[in-house]
Amino acid sequence: MIIKFKENTKREEIETLRKSLVDLGFAIHESIGDTITVFGVVGDTTAYDINRLYAYEFVDSVLRIQEPFKRVNRKFHPNDSLIDVGGVVIGGKNIVVIGGPCAVESHEQMEIITPLIAGAGAKLLRAGAFKPRTSPYSFQGLGLEGLEILKSMNHKYKLPIVSEVMSLEDLPLFVGRVDLLQIGARNMQNYPLLREVGKTDIPVLLKRGLANTIEELLMSAEYILSEGNKNVILCERGIRTFEPSTRNTLDISAIPVLKKLTHLPIIIDPSHASGHWEYVESLSKAAVAAGCDGLIIEVHHEPEKALSDGQQSLKPERFHKLIADCRRIALAVDRTLE
Ligand code: PEP
Ligand code: MN
Repeated sequence: MIIKFKENTKREEIETLRKSLVDLGFAIHESIGDTITVFGVVGDTTAYDINRLYAYEFVDSVLRIQEPFKRVNRKFHPNDSLIDVGGVVIGGKNIVVIGGPCAVESHEQMEIITPLIAGAGAKLLRAGAFKPRTSPYSFQGLGLEGLEILKSMNHKYKLPIVSEVMSLEDLPLFVGRVDLLQIGARNMQNYPLLREVGKTDIPVLLKRGLANTIEELLMSAEYILSEGNKNVILCERGIRTFEPSTRNTLDISAIPVLKKLTHLPIIIDPSHASGHWEYVESLSKAAVAAGCDGLIIEVHHEPEKALSDGQQSLKPERFHKLIADCRRIALAVDRTLE
């Protein structure tokens, strides 16, 4: 990092700061100008909160040279990470589609939808058993019963399961029942939860928060990796902007930006990003063209009757067509979708 001192800062003040940085193990390269002095600080600043330097009244500005994330950083791991989710690899040349309803509503519902999801070409089944609803009066999910239904679908149809874990206390219920633990947008910065899933070896689907930057997303992933779990897949699901035509705004640029910064796979959720089934197809195609590693899409056989997010759920026939269309785009960008 680089520290610029205010004009005519006293030598004793500069020396006090130098000593405290050297004590922390940093090396200092000093550049003295006519009125301004600059420190080039050499060493690993990942664990150093650079903002605290502004507490020194004589510090004018601080510039970070190194990113604050390390384990997720592509610089230290140039090759793409391949994450094995119940036998399905995410992050390689093949683009993986995940489909399913917003929520598990009943055994009958999942019994109808699951074979349609598999038949359309999806490789994983999604559905929430614990639902983070905006209103406390809305359907909150079936809880453990929902997870049991998902497990039975996995046995019968062999699709690995992804489902959202909302709290620390529920985590033990997910072990052995799901193949990919989803951390929802609202929990992206729930650090105790991130640490706890980091202590498991179950792959994690980490969704970007509604109003979080790409760097914050990567810092949250860093929490999981720092506890030992390297199996993290990132998910862009739309962010809050001033535009009300869609539920959120899909940040398509997150794909190339994340590809540059990290080795972790990136999947796109066009359903929560747009909030309208009509836009899901276009956004999916754009995401595949832009280089995503997968799509997670809400599908319901009777969206009008869905207990959550019916307005953004595709009917199975549309989902089937979407996969076929995305497969053609995948080939055009030298990927596959099998
Ligand atoms: C979901 O995938 O069901 C969900 C609630 O998504 P998000 O956390 O992105 O809102
Ligand atoms: Mn949903």
